[in-house]
Amino acid sequence: MKEIVALKKRISEHVTYGDLLARDGKISGSLSEEQYSCTFHGRDLKKSARYYRETDSSYCWVCKEKLDIYSYLEKKEGLGFSQAITHLVKTYRVPTDDLPDVFEEARRRRVEAPRVKVNGSKLSQERLSGAIRLMRGSIPDEKYERLVFALMLLKHATPEEKKTGASEVLRKAALKVVEDTKNGR
Ligand SMILES: [Zn+2]
Repeated sequence: MKEIVALKKRISEHVTYGDLLARDGKISGSLSEEQYSCTFHGRDLKKSARYYRETDSSYCWVCKEKLDIYSYLEKKEGLGFSQAITHLVKTYRVPTDDLPDVFEEARRRRVEAPRVKVNGSKLSQERLSGAIRLMRGSIPDEKYERLVFALMLLKHATPEEKKTGASEVLRKAALKVVEDTKNGR
């Protein structure tokens, strides 16, 4: 199955809703806007529908409905959306071989999408650092300095040290001091 946006664009280069309305004798097909008798709500001597070339769509004031080439075919011929697509491609011999498949297109988008790397360890250090800064002034200087020192140790721990779990112990100890201070202990 072809990627739908590219497919619709390709179809629009070969046939428009205006072409279908002109073929059905509804509009002349030469104006940018035309009033015409709606196909769907019975006798429409007043010409309740209007075609707009700019958006290649129509609106009927009685049906209170906006239509484009696909919804027109769906309504008039009782086709589903993909059947309407197939019908147009076949009838108007729209070339589609060079268009991307849905799956190819999805893959292409995945490859092109920028990858955001989140450094979880850096984030938690920053949170901890922020928490410690909040303590300044409300805890004894000595305690504050110990916290900052603990944070420095964490920041500069080597990957091996981090793996041993020692830095995790230190981190928890530092958070506990912060918690204790908050709770007035
Ligand atoms: Zn109508």
